[in-house]
Amino acid sequence: MILFFILGATLGSFACCQAWRIHDKDKAKWSHCEKCKYQLKWYDNIPIVSWLMLGGKCRKCRKPIGWAELLSEIGLGVVFVLSFLLWPAEGGLVFADFAEVCKFSLFLVNLVILLVLFVYDAKWKELPVSLMLASMAISVIFLGINVYVSYGMGRNFDLISLVGALVILPGFYYLMYKVSGETWVGGGDWILCLPLALILGNFWLAMFTLFAANIIGSIFSVPLLVKKKGPKTAIPFGPFLILGFLVVFFLQVQILNLVII
Ligand SMILES: [Zn+2]
Repeated sequence: MILFFILGATLGSFACCQAWRIHDKDKAKWSHCEKCKYQLKWYDNIPIVSWLMLGGKCRKCRKPIGWAELLSEIGLGVVFVLSFLLWPAEGGLVFADFAEVCKFSLFLVNLVILLVLFVYDAKWKELPVSLMLASMAISVIFLGINVYVSYGMGRNFDLISLVGALVILPGFYYLMYKVSGETWVGGGDWILCLPLALILGNFWLAMFTLFAANIIGSIFSVPLLVKKKGPKTAIPFGPFLILGFLVVFFLQVQILNLVII
């Protein structure tokens, strides 16, 4: 678990950095301070530790680095540990077979991409399409393994439920986006929903993700709307979709038990 946390924190640091690089079209080889261009030494790049040691400030110019770095590192570290602990397979990951380990690895890679999207959307209210396509490619392989495994165990894969998931999540957001002319949700949100729906692969799980994302979104947005400029404030929805997805993915066994009765 400690190893998973360290791996998650390191990749979280990488992901947060990538969001900036993609946004600034920055090809620089080494991480540097956004303000004074100070090139970070290796000891400035240790996830979480460096941030805390420096008090969240640049070593040279003492300007604040920002919370996104620290939160990304801790966040992905925690989610990696949760993925290991709560992996929805019979007996958990410890007794998992090769296919399950493949799915788990793909899931972790997808988490890194989702974190770049999370940071990017929270910062600049945009979702880079190339990243969503990468996430989709991984999700298609993930789904492929799911289908392969269920046929291998002599079960039919529930194709109708998968189609239902695609209709209720990306379909719903696409409709909202089209009907509202991009004022309710952005054009990126429905594309982001595609990989999420493919991984969940189940109508009920997609439905719960929709609810969870909206509930989390409301909790965060209402104080923001009251405090700021009223209902016109654009709020990026991508982060809420990703958080809602994670909650539902980790609790999928419990949710499906609830629904199937
Ligand atoms: Zn600096």
